[in-house]
Amino acid sequence: MHVRDILKRDKTIFSFEFFPPNTEKGWNALTNRLSEFEELEPSYVSVTYGAGGTTRTKTRDLVCQIASNTELDPIPHLTCVGHKKDEIHSILQEYADAGIDNLLALRGDIPTHGCSDGDYSYAADLIDAIHGFEGASFGVGIAGFPEGHPETPNRLVQLDHLKSKVDRGVDWMCTQLFFDNNAFFDWCQQCELVGIDTPIIAGIMPITTIAGMRRMAELAGGANFPAPLQQRLYRFQDDPESVRRVGVNWAAQQCAQLLDHGVRGIHFFTMNQSSATEEIYKALGAPSGSKLRGLHE
Ligand code: FAD
Repeated sequence: MHVRDILKRDKTIFSFEFFPPNTEKGWNALTNRLSEFEELEPSYVSVTYGAGGTTRTKTRDLVCQIASNTELDPIPHLTCVGHKKDEIHSILQEYADAGIDNLLALRGDIPTHGCSDGDYSYAADLIDAIHGFEGASFGVGIAGFPEGHPETPNRLVQLDHLKSKVDRGVDWMCTQLFFDNNAFFDWCQQCELVGIDTPIIAGIMPITTIAGMRRMAELAGGANFPAPLQQRLYRFQDDPESVRRVGVNWAAQQCAQLLDHGVRGIHFFTMNQSSATEEIYKALGAPSGSKLRGLHE
């Protein structure tokens, strides 16, 4: 189903993100766990793509496996950095053949060893390629960065770039993870001021370990880790179970506040684990195994 129709069906979107595992063991663990995610009846799930095509086959295989074997509605991420036009065309054709309705269109990070020699400079170019593809009419999502994208320190210019992406025709926007709701609320207002009215889905990632938090800080450059969050985590840093509880509680409180403010949707970066998301569902009041999007219809 196109996300624009999912947005009509579900007052609040709840979506989950997976990555294609590298090992057979990881693959089996995720596919065995899909039924646990299914019980939560998300609006859709998305599958990451390794920039430059490093997970091209695995992303497609996981997307197709989810589409054929579960009730989940999978959305592939696609990055354009390093790709030639004919490669993007053949990936789009594969998804069209597999009956996939939507894509999350991204640029991907520029490799640290220098410029890529692909045909695309920015996600906006990929959006054009998707709309220009004649084999299917995909719904298109994009990424947004409430706390800024490291490559464009000028936040006004960054909003201009975001607006020009939106103006190419997109159905939804999913944000980078954040831990500070005030930054998100303020940025949503800034988007409104420049005329961006695309539904914004808030990206939430519960911290489950101190090492994981440090990895996130690296991956999501610019993300703010508020002092009270750090203080609560470090208070229990020698007790992994307490660290996890603090991180999950923080995420649950973020979600509750986002819902109170009428957020259009929440996207969970699950790291292929269902337990933290289930705990957040419970903390929000959802009876075990129930869907949240239903509660908001
Ligand atoms: P763009 O929108 O192209 O922006 C990239 C930078 O270029 C920004 O700083 C922007 O301000 C600037 N810019 C844009 N247009 C112009 C212009 N015309 N002139 C000058 N500067 C310009 N990465 C992956 O590799 N795989 C994934 O699966 C993946 N999934 C993600 C999912 C989400 C929800 C998010 C938030 C990010 C994800 N990323 C993923 C990371 C993302 O690819 C990187 O952060 C990347 O650097 C930016 O991608 P973008 O699509 O926002 O790029």
